[in-house]
Amino acid sequence: MEPLRALVLDHDLDDAELTIRSLKQGGMAAEWLQAETPASFSEALQGGDWDVIVTGLSQSRFDAVAALRLVKESRREIPLIVVAGSIDEELAAALLRAGAADFVSRSRMAQLAPAVERAVREARQCREKHRAEEEIQVLAERWRLLLEHALDGVALYQAIRDSQGCLTDFRCLEWNRAAEGILGRGRDKVLGRTSREIFPGPERKRLLSHCARMMATGISDLIEDFSIGRQEQEKILDISCFRLDAEHFVTLFRDVTERKRTAEGLRQFAEEVARVNRNLEQVNAEIERRNRELEEFTHVASHDMQEPLRKIASFGDLLARALRDKLDSRSSQYLALMQDGARRLQTLLRDLLTMSRAGRAPLRIETKPLEECVRAALELLSARIQETGAVIHLDPLPSLPVDATQICQLYQNLISNALKFRPAEAVPEISITCEDSPDGPVLGVADNGIGIEPEYQEKIFEAFQRLHPRETYEGSGIGLAVCRKVVGRHGGRIWVESRPVAGSHFKFVLNPNGRAEEN
Ligand code: ADP
Repeated sequence: MEPLRALVLDHDLDDAELTIRSLKQGGMAAEWLQAETPASFSEALQGGDWDVIVTGLSQSRFDAVAALRLVKESRREIPLIVVAGSIDEELAAALLRAGAADFVSRSRMAQLAPAVERAVREARQCREKHRAEEEIQVLAERWRLLLEHALDGVALYQAIRDSQGCLTDFRCLEWNRAAEGILGRGRDKVLGRTSREIFPGPERKRLLSHCARMMATGISDLIEDFSIGRQEQEKILDISCFRLDAEHFVTLFRDVTERKRTAEGLRQFAEEVARVNRNLEQVNAEIERRNRELEEFTHVASHDMQEPLRKIASFGDLLARALRDKLDSRSSQYLALMQDGARRLQTLLRDLLTMSRAGRAPLRIETKPLEECVRAALELLSARIQETGAVIHLDPLPSLPVDATQICQLYQNLISNALKFRPAEAVPEISITCEDSPDGPVLGVADNGIGIEPEYQEKIFEAFQRLHPRETYEGSGIGLAVCRKVVGRHGGRIWVESRPVAGSHFKFVLNPNGRAEEN
């Protein structure tokens, strides 16, 4: 250990030497200062790392009390011991009040070294105590800031135990601002109060049992969905509690009422959606069943009615031929109307049957060049093409996995309409198109015909929807419904882009790899 460093302050050289000798005998290093003025004393004080000051009673210009004041002002906390020939009680009291650590009589200098050691030890202890107090203050300030700014409620409790040492209650010692907000209780209403007063409801028992277990085991606890208060005032908290020491514990809590309510709302909503979906599935299944029944009926009816109708038509023809000269003009007219009606009904039944087949016949998917389907359709329509002098343009078409018969039917219907819906005497110009798109090729049939008003561009795909009287353009209004069915069964979609007079461009995409709609 380093020798203690003492600053000796005495204006008398002999006295100073005696002091220094005594200190050195006690194993200390000492320096003598003949301070003439308070200023030179202060300077010496600042200039060295002193453990103790040993001073005579009076200096030439200032005395021990003044020296003590200067030490205090320097805030160095260096103990000061007064060495004097004699000290009366009054002076001793004055020196002690001023902060002197001890007095030693010049006649008993052997006591000086032990007195210095004691004073230094006490000063050191004093300094350590101060430092500890300062540290405590810093910690207390940090704790205060933490409590002040925490978003969670924080409460510090002291355990209350029964004679067996079991936790029976707790008393609140700290309650931060967030806690005030969450539970709506100010500090003044909870500090110093027990659980009985703070949580008067049934929740107290549950909280107490968690805290008792946590204090007994020392294992921190998380209490989820802790409900507090009644009805509209009900709050749901997540609380975590942990033991601070044998007698204290802390709870941190946050209000999760909104989150829980939102989660509950979402759960109910999801249940409702699931219920609606189930209903929808049932309704869809029912619609599908009815559609199948309807198709079945259409098929059977159109098929079975064909034969009697064929008889009416052919016997009507025979009758007309047999009675050609015998009927008056009115009867001939009636018969002609009858024959016309029969023929129209035949066309309608044929178209109905086609539609029903388009929806029922099993698909035979094979990868085919679409041009083959187009050529087959053009072949079937060759007479009309020749008759009208139509000009047909064909884009290069891809090969796709399709049911060739159905796609041929699709092109046939679209090209047939393109030939049909044109101003009288106009020469049809028809393009079989194919455009690239991110969703694959967009196929189509474009014409220079009469076009379609925007409000009808959706409707025309429904069965029996016609925009013109039969006398102007013949037909049964089923062709485009068949087209939609075929495209739908190939998992695709059909639409028209058209302007009246400017012509129409029917477009469709096929999605043979996706799920085809069986409708
Ligand atoms: P149909 O040809 O037997 O009348 P569709 O279902 O094929 O029945 O067509 C429905 C209606 O859509 C037609 O009556 C017609 O008014 C309109 N339409 C169809 N194709 C064209 C076209 N290329 N140009 C103008 N109108 C069309």
